[in-house]
Amino acid sequence: MLFICCHSVCCYAKNAANEYKSDASNECFSTSAGRLSQPKHRFITWLTILDRLNTNDRWMKIGVTTDNTCLLCGIEVESHSHLFFGCQYSLRCRQKIAPWIEMNILPNSLRDIVKWLLRNRTTKFKRGFISSIVLCTIYHFWKERNNDLWKNQVHIVDRVVSLIQKTVHNRNHTVLPRAISTRDSSWFTTLFRG
Ligand SMILES: [Zn+2]
Repeated sequence: MLFICCHSVCCYAKNAANEYKSDASNECFSTSAGRLSQPKHRFITWLTILDRLNTNDRWMKIGVTTDNTCLLCGIEVESHSHLFFGCQYSLRCRQKIAPWIEMNILPNSLRDIVKWLLRNRTTKFKRGFISSIVLCTIYHFWKERNNDLWKNQVHIVDRVVSLIQKTVHNRNHTVLPRAISTRDSSWFTTLFRG
């Protein structure tokens, strides 16, 4: 069952995402981020999971465009799975983000991330923090794609990774749970050192 902890989105998602109800692992991923993530990040991720973003392959199917090429790489068909996990642009970002958060795999789908989170017996805070990074990353991939569409501008990979790191730092620093352990606190500090 899909839960994204923003009330309106949550209720909407519960009704709409029937196809994911059989996949219990989604629950872990979506509940983990909670208020450590921004509502707009949860919303875009929810649309991504449901394949409801206006990607070029969708627009071509309904006759809005005659070109379904990915705006970020300009090579392959722009679908949800390509944009977030198949595109060279998103691949280069994931190659930088995964080791930063000590993820010892390079995920090729949201399901891969869920499995990794479930396999790794980590603390609730770490799971939430990592989930918030995933949501933020998806949001920024979509934002970069739209920057290309409307402004003809795309940040270089290093810049977008830096934006993702700053965003999750500021959000998590603001809403950091009071009961965070010393170990989690030092892990969080280490991530942003230097
Ligand atoms: Zn692409």
